[in-house]
Amino acid sequence: MLGRGVVPADTPVLRADDLGVLRGDGIFETMHVRDGADGLPHPWLLDEHLARMARSAARMDLALPEARVLRELAALACEQWPAGTEGAVRLVCTRGAESAAATGGPVTCFATVNPVGPSSLAARRDGVAVAALTLGFPAAARTPAPWLLGGVKSLSYAVNMASLRWAAAHGVDDVLWVSEDGFALEAPTSTLVWLEGDTLYTVPVAETGILPGTTAAHLLATAGQLGLSAGQRMVTPAELRGTDGAWLLSSVRGIAEIRTVDGATLPPSALTGKLREHLGFSA
Ligand code: PLP
Repeated sequence: MLGRGVVPADTPVLRADDLGVLRGDGIFETMHVRDGADGLPHPWLLDEHLARMARSAARMDLALPEARVLRELAALACEQWPAGTEGAVRLVCTRGAESAAATGGPVTCFATVNPVGPSSLAARRDGVAVAALTLGFPAAARTPAPWLLGGVKSLSYAVNMASLRWAAAHGVDDVLWVSEDGFALEAPTSTLVWLEGDTLYTVPVAETGILPGTTAAHLLATAGQLGLSAGQRMVTPAELRGTDGAWLLSSVRGIAEIRTVDGATLPPSALTGKLREHLGFSA
C-alpha cells in the first residue's frame, strides 16, 4: 500500500468513500509474476504496463504517482513471493476519497499479488470455447468519443465481468466481443490474435478503441524470432474459421487457443505450444 508498505491481505486499506469503489473511478494493471534473470520473481513487461498505466491516467485526468514509485510498489508486492511460482500482481490507482478528490487530494494506490487461478491454467492448457457477444456499437464508435474511454484500463469492469458470467452460464469459457457492424474486437480480459499463413494478426487499436494488450504487442513485436511477420486488420468471427489458428492473449493466463466460436470449430493450431514457450508460460 503506497505510504504504508506491506500489510497483511486482510487489512482494510480503502475508505468507504473511495471513488474507486463508488464510481469505478481509477485504473489498474495486472502483470505476470515470473522469475527474472536473477532467479527472483518480478512483474513481467513492467515497463510496458507502466507506460499503459500512464496513458490510462492521462486519459482520465488522474494524478498518477511517478513511474519510479509505482515500480517500487510492484517490486515490494513481489518481494515475498516464492521464486519458481508464477503469480499475478495487480497495481491499482483510484481517484481517492470523494471528500478529498475535489481539492486534488491524494490518489489511492496499492498492489496485490495472487497465485494464478486454476481456470487460467486450464484455458492455457486446453484452449477455450467462446461466444461471440455484441458490444452494441460499431467498431469505430469510440475513436471520436474519448469520454467512452476506449483503450483505457479503468476499474469500470462490471460489463467485462458480466460478459464472462454470461459465458459461464451458457456453457462456454470466454467471450469474443463483436461490434454492431460485425467485427471481432477483443475479449473482456484478453486480446485476439490469429495466424494467416506466416503472419500473426491482431485487431487495430486506434480504429476500434480496444485495449492495447501488452502480451499481444510483445508477441507481434517479436514474431520475427519465430519466422513470422505481424500485421493488423479487422476480422469477423466467421473469418476466424478460415485462419491457421486463433488465440486470446493476456498477461496472466498467457495464451489460450480458441477452440470454438459459437459452437463452430476452429482448426487446431500446431503453433500453440511454440507461442506459449516463446512467451515464457508453462503448459
Ligand atoms: N483487453 C482487455 C479488455 C483486457 O482487460 C486485457 C487484460 O486484462 C487485455 C485485452 C489483455 O491485455 P494484457 O495482455 O496487457 O494483459
